[in-house]
Amino acid sequence: MNHQGFRTLTIDDYTPYIGQEAVERIRAKGEALRHHHVVHVSSTYYGGGVAELLSSMTLLMNSLGIRTGWRIIFGPPDFFGITKKMHNALQGGDINLSELKKDIYEEVVYENSIRNHLSHDIVIIHDPQPLPLIGHYEKKGPWFWRCHIDLSEPDPALWNYLRPFVEQYDAVIVSMSEYAQALEVPQHFFMPAIDPFSIKNYDMTPSEVNERLERHGIPTDLPIIAQVSRFDLWKDPVGVIKAFEIARKEVDCTLVLLGSPATDDPEGQEIYESLLGYEDERILIRSVSDSALVNALQRKSQVILQKSLREGFGLTVTEAMWKGVPVIGGNAGGIPAQIQDGVNGFLVSSSEEAAERLITLLKDGPLRTRIGRAARLSVQENFLMVRLLEQYLDLFSSYMVGKHR
Ligand code: UDP
Repeated sequence: MNHQGFRTLTIDDYTPYIGQEAVERIRAKGEALRHHHVVHVSSTYYGGGVAELLSSMTLLMNSLGIRTGWRIIFGPPDFFGITKKMHNALQGGDINLSELKKDIYEEVVYENSIRNHLSHDIVIIHDPQPLPLIGHYEKKGPWFWRCHIDLSEPDPALWNYLRPFVEQYDAVIVSMSEYAQALEVPQHFFMPAIDPFSIKNYDMTPSEVNERLERHGIPTDLPIIAQVSRFDLWKDPVGVIKAFEIARKEVDCTLVLLGSPATDDPEGQEIYESLLGYEDERILIRSVSDSALVNALQRKSQVILQKSLREGFGLTVTEAMWKGVPVIGGNAGGIPAQIQDGVNGFLVSSSEEAAERLITLLKDGPLRTRIGRAARLSVQENFLMVRLLEQYLDLFSSYMVGKHR
């Protein structure tokens, strides 16, 4: 609690989930790094998984006495148009990598380097947007590039262009070993995690849930199926609607597609508008930034879909599993690292398969309960923010002590 009565989360809040011994171990690791100055750099404060992670992680690091900041880079729409194309091409899409695109990308990052004075002990750069920043500073300590994208099949031309920037870093962090690249620098594998106390994940009461859904005009008279995602083709929203259309012939239900605009994702609005044509009384498409609505919708849903075709990790899967809701996920990227098919959720590779699982789950309450319980437990054991915090602390201390292995 500070002198004005504000209180943010600390590591102690996690005691019920990880036990006192683990809390003390992590606190001691934080103590060893006390007063280090750390900065994270990303390209948006809200919308999408990176912003979600950093808002909790930076507060937790500070609560341990590690002075941790968060900067964002900004640029004109052109810049974010180009970086979104890069994002897509790193996930296997196409890009026409013209000289003009490279010039705009590098120029805008250079301008950001002038505005941001980074003389921190440890610097963590998130995703491709700010990647070239490293070329514009005198490094004082280790710099890490943390890439959250599904890198299983990056476009080779783009990767060849980006690799010289990547290799200036002391190390790279990706979400899974499947994303490792042929690089001359060490690579570490950190899966993302959730903050169970955030507005998005705290234990809402049933009346709070109903009130929030009502406020957004979401009917609760029939079972709800939902997908919560940025409006992005990799999340396969049309495939979700197709699965729903098949399932609704057997079980009456409501589909909600909820997305929020991310400032670094210029394609979202267009995709959202293209989906509006599918709306009917039982297919609702909503574009709203409201974490409590995400929480309420995930809790109220009988089944959550995350039918991604590519997915760096898929925090929305973790969030729904934490709430004990069965998730049907696309068998892509980080989703199979979270869902064990048939044990704590289901993995699917087509709309037809998704529809089949939907029907089974909607008809079988005990199955939903069993899967939901297993889902919650697996998040508690593997995907809470403290696990990720400890990985960062271990990484920092290994690079600070051994200095540039
Ligand atoms: N999200 C949100 N509101 C929405 C849609 C998504 O707050 O309407 C959040 C979602 O809860 C999750 C994050 O954005 O925390 C998405 O992360 P994920 O890893 O699933 O996908 P990304 O957007 O990073 O590709």
